[in-house]
Amino acid sequence: MATIKFWGVRGSIPTPGPTTIKYGGNTSCSELRYKDKLFILDAGSGIRALGNELMKQGTGIHASILISHLHWDHIQGIPFFVPALIPGNNFTFYGAEDPEKDLATTIAEQMNPINFPIELKDMGSKLNFKPLSEGSYEIDGIKVDTIFINHPGYALGYKLHFDDRSIVYISDNEPFTAVDKNSKELYIGENGTEKLIDFIKDATVLVHDAQYTPEEYKNRVTWGHSPYDYTVNLGLKANVNQLILFHHDPMHDDEYLDTLHDDAQKIVKESGSDMDLLMAREGSIFEF
Ligand SMILES: [Zn+2]
Ligand SMILES: [Zn+2]
Repeated sequence: MATIKFWGVRGSIPTPGPTTIKYGGNTSCSELRYKDKLFILDAGSGIRALGNELMKQGTGIHASILISHLHWDHIQGIPFFVPALIPGNNFTFYGAEDPEKDLATTIAEQMNPINFPIELKDMGSKLNFKPLSEGSYEIDGIKVDTIFINHPGYALGYKLHFDDRSIVYISDNEPFTAVDKNSKELYIGENGTEKLIDFIKDATVLVHDAQYTPEEYKNRVTWGHSPYDYTVNLGLKANVNQLILFHHDPMHDDEYLDTLHDDAQKIVKESGSDMDLLMAREGSIFEF
């Protein structure tokens, strides 16, 4: 059995406060465990609390950190990830890199001496960096497939295989469409979507961006995020057992997200599918 625990489910910027207590305000970070393996999916502000929890295990911490892409909300927790400061710990960062600037440099730059008092190179643990492209890899003995997704810059979706189960993690993704920006007509051209459905096909769990309502998306085309109806239909078409809506908009408070969940559930119900539809919540754990 594998488990996923969400340490940060918010998109774009941390949103602490009384209106985000239920779903949480930290940016993207999830802890994925299978047997003795530890994968960390993205390193947003949620990784700070995960790091504090890992510190209770002592030293000798080893993890593979899969970065979806290098926007701040997916790497901003690294400077505050305490286990990375401790000699004897070992972390390997994986992710797509920009042709103009490698993965290690991009991550290190957010900790330059003007922006932060400690540089990445001065963190005491062993840090390794392995760039990925689209393909199939073995990481810490686990089969990991990757796909380029539709988000500004170079962004990857991941599929991890654990025996007969699999989880797909796609944190930031926009419908693959040939969108006519003048008419704002959506969902034209399904080529990219078909490829994505093939990638996700029959996954046990799909964690996917559902940042917007369909109405909001009309004014945010090219921003790199999905309306929830697209995400639900993606899960249905790919025949996943469980869909977890992720990367909540900073403007959506707990009440709004409850409504979004209800509206998304209606699509599943109308389809007649028994797909389990859940909202990612900071602190929640799912077994699969
Ligand atoms: Zn993001
Ligand atoms: Zn992004």
